[in-house]
Amino acid sequence: MKIRVSVLGATGTVGQRFIQLLEGHPWFELAALVGSERSAGRTYAEATRWVLDAPMPSEVEGMTILPDDADLDTPLVFSALPSKTAGIIEQRLARAGHIVCSNASDHRMEPDVPLLIPEVNPEHLALIDVQRARRGWPGAIVTNPNCTATGPTMLLRPLHDHFGVTKILLMSMQALSGAGYPGIPSYDAIDNVIPYIGGEEPKVETEPQKMLGVVRDGVIVPIECTISAHCNRVPVLEGHLECLSIGFARRPELEEMVETLRSFRSLPQELNLPSAPAQPIIVRDEPDRPQPRRDRDAGRGMSTTVGRVRPCSLLDYKLVCLSHNTIRGAAGGSLLNAELMYAQGLVKA
Ligand code: NAP
Repeated sequence: MKIRVSVLGATGTVGQRFIQLLEGHPWFELAALVGSERSAGRTYAEATRWVLDAPMPSEVEGMTILPDDADLDTPLVFSALPSKTAGIIEQRLARAGHIVCSNASDHRMEPDVPLLIPEVNPEHLALIDVQRARRGWPGAIVTNPNCTATGPTMLLRPLHDHFGVTKILLMSMQALSGAGYPGIPSYDAIDNVIPYIGGEEPKVETEPQKMLGVVRDGVIVPIECTISAHCNRVPVLEGHLECLSIGFARRPELEEMVETLRSFRSLPQELNLPSAPAQPIIVRDEPDRPQPRRDRDAGRGMSTTVGRVRPCSLLDYKLVCLSHNTIRGAAGGSLLNAELMYAQGLVKA
């Protein structure tokens, strides 16, 4: 029997990805869609401006969208709600016994909430017990990181384990879909780069340290690493490209660093979770890769692609990384979190 799931914010950019990725999922079955006052009571096809290239799955077209205060009868809930709106709704659902996998930033940095990338910190799920004891609810909230923090943190896991990461300078070129739909007006986006994304840099500068930290006595001890981020919006539809300079406690040889990235595998690969890419990090040798249009779908959008690994005159090495923001950085990442929890017996029918 499949686990019944709901999607909150189902009509939005991330919500649509959830619907696409849940189609034919071997473990989960889409049972309820939730939207704002604007769309509650309408069918999904009526309420949604579908933006993905593949057609809207026929099973969802006629589903009626529920209001955000609806009682849901699904053990698992995926949240693609806007931040600030998400917080209270997700808490209500965790209190009612649901496992909530959230894309929103509201709870990410709370000490008893896992901020999870299954390849990076699966052991942080231990915080669920702490969360339940502290908050007295039978459900749980588990979050995935900001889409711009996701790709770099994937790389930093093996690099930090082997060489100790101490400093990072990061410059992002972020896709338009990262701003949701309709997002930035075309008049501002085309032929342009916007060197500001509200609230983004503080998230990118703090979330990786939490994810790379260790759980000690029910508390996450973040790693000590200084990150400085410049976040920019560019006229690309999907895929966040980021240039990183990285300083290490022990500077590796170039080949050693590349091999460390290339050979990285983790628990989702061992468990063969349905959404896990065979290779979480793909290293390209061509001098002009990765590129958003050509590399964002690597590993069905779940792999992080790295290229141009070379010495840096400021820190030790620099490289370029690419991660699909609405798949690995949002719906796909959240789905993989839920798959890990299901595989570990934390989600039950
Ligand atoms: P979006 O395209 O603007 O979609 C927002 C969705 O939330 C819409 O479906 C909207 O429903 C719904 N909504 C708004 N207020 C609501 C309410 N009170 N009750 C129920 N539903 C409500 O935004 P998005 O890009 O998908 O982002 C969703 C979340 O994921 C945000 O927290 C964002 O920060 C996070 N995130 C996004 C990305 C990305 O690449 N886009 C990556 C990582 C994380 P209606 O259509 O019914 O109004």
